[in-house]
Amino acid sequence: MTDTPRTDVLVVGSGIMGSVVARLLRDTDPALRITMVDGGTAIGEVPGRHLHDVDDPVLWSRYNEQVTTGIQGMYTGAEVVRDVAGSLTELPPGMFHALAFGEDAEAMPATALAWNAGGMGVHWTAATPWPAGDEVFDFGDPARWAADLDTARRVLAVTPSPIGPTEVGRLVLDVLRRRYDGTGPDDRGPQPMPMAVTASASGPLPRTAPGTVFPPLATGGDPAFTLVTRTLVTSLVMSDGRVTGARLRRVADGAESELRADAVVVCADALRTPQLLFASGIRPDALARHLNEHAFVTARVLLDLDRFGLDLDALPLPRTGEFCTDSLWLPQTGAAQPFHGQIMNRTYVDDDGRPLAHSVGLSLYVPVESRPENRLVFSDTETDLAGMPRIGIEFGYSDSDRALIRRALAEVGALAEEFGPFDPHTERALLPPGSSLHLTGTVRSGTADDGTSVCDPDGRVWGFDNLYLAGNGVIPTAMAANVTLTGTVTAVRAAHAVAERLALMGVGS
Ligand SMILES: Cc1cc2nc3c(=O)[nH]c(=O)nc-3n(C[C@H](O)[C@H](O)[C@H](O)COP(=O)(O)OP(=O)(O)OC[C@H]3O[C@@H](n4cnc5c(N)ncnc54)[C@H](O)[C@@H]3O)c2cc1C
Repeated sequence: MTDTPRTDVLVVGSGIMGSVVARLLRDTDPALRITMVDGGTAIGEVPGRHLHDVDDPVLWSRYNEQVTTGIQGMYTGAEVVRDVAGSLTELPPGMFHALAFGEDAEAMPATALAWNAGGMGVHWTAATPWPAGDEVFDFGDPARWAADLDTARRVLAVTPSPIGPTEVGRLVLDVLRRRYDGTGPDDRGPQPMPMAVTASASGPLPRTAPGTVFPPLATGGDPAFTLVTRTLVTSLVMSDGRVTGARLRRVADGAESELRADAVVVCADALRTPQLLFASGIRPDALARHLNEHAFVTARVLLDLDRFGLDLDALPLPRTGEFCTDSLWLPQTGAAQPFHGQIMNRTYVDDDGRPLAHSVGLSLYVPVESRPENRLVFSDTETDLAGMPRIGIEFGYSDSDRALIRRALAEVGALAEEFGPFDPHTERALLPPGSSLHLTGTVRSGTADDGTSVCDPDGRVWGFDNLYLAGNGVIPTAMAANVTLTGTVTAVRAAHAVAERLALMGVGS
């Protein structure tokens, strides 16, 4: 036993959540031994660097081709891939449909998994709207919620208005304001979309990614931090209500080992965090229930230039390295305006770069009721491509979800007509479940171990004193907005709780 390697904190998953946990722990203790394990490996040379910002022109072009629809589900491919890949060892790092990863995910066919160092954080669009109203889970402590949300904004480097508004974007915002101003508080009116990017006067806007949140992940140079890639955590090892470490399996050759740890933080996304708990025999009633994802209604309309008194030549072009001219936000404000609007506009150009038309891309995210019957079920007998318990997805819309979706379809149609001639049959769609990649609720937090939550407000798993969870799965509320900033609040809380606990125990420096 004495030969078993040991770390102070084991972080499972090297995505945004894992990197936020590592960053905040490092901020509190420069000598704390942190080991981060991820099943995937780097795409390109640098683990955790966003593909928008890589130097390799082939990788860069591939990313830009995939991202131009502005619809995250399409990033993994317009068609859902159902054929399960041959073997994990041959799988290149990247994003894969859950179905192609061997999960039973037909109820959410478009959902996808990251299988690479940096997780989805090297692919994401980086829109970071803040939650409000029913989305908030402050557990009766609004001051702490506000402080944690501020920390989340800071570590993600959220910039209020990085892409637009251009002159044309302002016209679009005017229309939105005429329709929606007054439905909620002043700070929740139509506005530019906050994004996790580094602002710059010109040229591409570097994206926040795991390698910028916690630079040692990308560039090394931190002797107390170890990144282990292409290695699965197959189960947590436990004794007397404590986690003592984890079992690891190297993907390349199947070699198994154990790593001991004083604390473990699982940041393995909303599907694979509960999968790892299940594989470890940690199966509380609420595990994998309350699976949630907002419904995704999308439309695209060409701006009627005559109606807005615009010349073709007046149409804006995106800055170098970006594809849209304006990234705008319609916040939800409750019952009067329950939809989260993400508006991404672009100008189509001819071969010589001259403007041809301007399109207004309107996506409405529709909050979906949080219900225990929407859930993941894990197989005791079948495994997925990684050899982990196969994930089955049971997910459907309630009658009130369907009514709200119908309202969103009507709303997006009426809104589109404000901008130009619009054909709802060809230019509007309700995307299949999974398309947003914003899954939540599967390891939800709560204030009591009453069977409706898996962990406490700090992400500490009920019944354990040193096992923590972080990420979108911990969010207990029905989210309308993109979820990552809100999910990051759970990583902030887990990191603070782990730091406090280790300080009490005298672990680290
Ligand atoms: C194209 C795209 C666009 C997006 N745009 C936005 C946006 O604009 N705004 C927004 O809010 N969100 C967006 N998202 C979603 C956002 O990227 C995710 O919410 C966020 O990155 C999730 O971070 P995470 O760390 O929880 O999970 P992940 O990034 O999925 O990381 C989990 C990691 O855990 C590893 N792992 C899993 N199981 C194991 C195991 N057993 N052992 C070892 N490692 C394991 C995985 O390999 C993975 O690297 C987008 C996503 C994509 C793909």
